[in-house]
Amino acid sequence: MPDAIIIGAGAAGLTAGLLLARRGWRVDVLERDVDDRPGDLAGIDDWRRPGATQTWHSHAFLARCRSLLAEHAPDVLAALRAAGALEVRLAEHAPPTLTGPAPADDELVVLGCRRAVLDWVLREVVATQPGVTVRSGTRVVGLRIETDPAPAEPAFSRGPVRVRGVRLADGSSRDADLVVDAAGRLSPVRRWLADAGADLPAPAEADCGIAYYSRYYRRSGPAPDIALNRGHTTGASFDRYSCLMFPADGDSFSMTFGVLPEDTGIRVLRHGAAFDAAVRSIEMFVPWLNPGNVRPVSPVTAMSHLANRLRPLVADGRPGVLGLLAIGDAAVITNPAHTRGVSLAVLGAVRLTEVASGLRDPAERALALDESMRAELAPWFEDSCAQDSARLLRWRPEQPVVPQARGAEPAEGAPPTGYTPWPAAPAGGAGAARPAGVTNGEAYLAARRDPEIWHRFTRLQNLLATPSDVLGESGFAARVREILATGWRPAGVPGPSHDDLVGLATDALAVGAPEPR
Ligand SMILES: Cc1cc2nc3c(=O)[nH]c(=O)nc-3n(C[C@H](O)[C@H](O)[C@H](O)COP(=O)(O)OP(=O)(O)OC[C@H]3O[C@@H](n4cnc5c(N)ncnc54)[C@H](O)[C@@H]3O)c2cc1C
Repeated sequence: MPDAIIIGAGAAGLTAGLLLARRGWRVDVLERDVDDRPGDLAGIDDWRRPGATQTWHSHAFLARCRSLLAEHAPDVLAALRAAGALEVRLAEHAPPTLTGPAPADDELVVLGCRRAVLDWVLREVVATQPGVTVRSGTRVVGLRIETDPAPAEPAFSRGPVRVRGVRLADGSSRDADLVVDAAGRLSPVRRWLADAGADLPAPAEADCGIAYYSRYYRRSGPAPDIALNRGHTTGASFDRYSCLMFPADGDSFSMTFGVLPEDTGIRVLRHGAAFDAAVRSIEMFVPWLNPGNVRPVSPVTAMSHLANRLRPLVADGRPGVLGLLAIGDAAVITNPAHTRGVSLAVLGAVRLTEVASGLRDPAERALALDESMRAELAPWFEDSCAQDSARLLRWRPEQPVVPQARGAEPAEGAPPTGYTPWPAAPAGGAGAARPAGVTNGEAYLAARRDPEIWHRFTRLQNLLATPSDVLGESGFAARVREILATGWRPAGVPGPSHDDLVGLATDALAVGAPEPR
């Protein structure tokens, strides 16, 4: 029986552990956080997860994530439903401005669920699965590595390093046939590999140019019967800030502000009283935040220093490391605003399981997972960079700094969605249409008018179709341009100006109510 060590019990590590065990692997999932998860969901608000600080930011799980679970781990999907996860049928929330009915599509269903509930459910299912064990309070501090003294191919300056296992904080070590880096956004594994002399391609990276403030609430009465205006969320981008409401499991929901990281005035939102006043000042959220039956159940959680990142382990067909594969945020990170991370983590776990179970040779495994990364993950990295660039041109017109993916050189003849850096903004700004296709922003506008464009765009936003299939397809692009040429635009969403928002939040802080916990 082959054995695997997975570093990290987040969405990627737990899903991979479950799927590998079901393919006959013996798996240890090593997690640095102690296991202080509550015995039942009633205590979930107190599960802090210091190793995954995004846990208490708003999360939704896209239709692709739900489809992958339905196909590969239907018991996890069933357990999420039993835990009260909402299934948001997107056709029911199609824009009222469409000129005809939204096409029916049973796959377009998003899971509305707190992130802690997803991880709790995954832990419960994993706990009953023979062959996989989660070892909490077990921090991995290094790798057990062998360097190939004589590279098989003399043309290569260095051979790949061979990972044999991991070193733990208590001084012990463990070996396995396969080590999986599922240690998330801050994974130290690439640094360890580089220190051991691994010849890895530089990661491609671009700042998201955004910081987030989130807070969870509970309501005591029924949810308002109002369609969500952005698919699985309600909200909008306003004057240098955005605000979204995420419906979640049971009687819970969350609110998240996205702001410029350098905006010092708006940091007042980190205080609960200021945050509550700010969300209540935006008209569209008033029905959701009736003070009579809604109460905050978490402090405000802040997060910044976010970047889009693509971290390949193979350069020009040469694996830099054997015996170790990376999935989840350790492999690719996109701006959380697009709610794609967990879908990509689950997809990575599915592909890793296929590759590890279908191939025995470590080099073949590395190449096969890399190929999937190029085809299935890299397009979302590039799309996220492009969307961030367009937003930053709106939010920072006086300082039109366009984030550039850096590090990865385009290989000659590389596929259009390979590790090529995201191309610089075309003349006219990043919001301008590229000749071959349309931007995500243009498609978003047309998708509020034309039912077929709505359908294809919503599949794109849910990772059920790729940007090149949709935005780059000539018929789609022509129809989007046709709609935009009529001059039709959706009505703007009213909201306070940036300065008014900061002012009223600051005033509320002066007379603020005590914070929960
Ligand atoms: C503000 C914010 C909002 C988001 N919203 C969404 C959303 O709505 N929808 C969505 O799909 N995605 C969202 N994401 C992205 C999503 O959270 C991540 O993509 C997802 O958590 C990735 O899963 P993972 O398993 O790779 O990493 P994680 O979930 O971060 O898990 C990594 C695990 O590894 C452990 N670990 C780290 N180092 C070690 C070590 N040395 N030894 C042992 N264990 C270790 C950590 O403790 C942690 O448990 C959001 C992200 C942020 C930051």
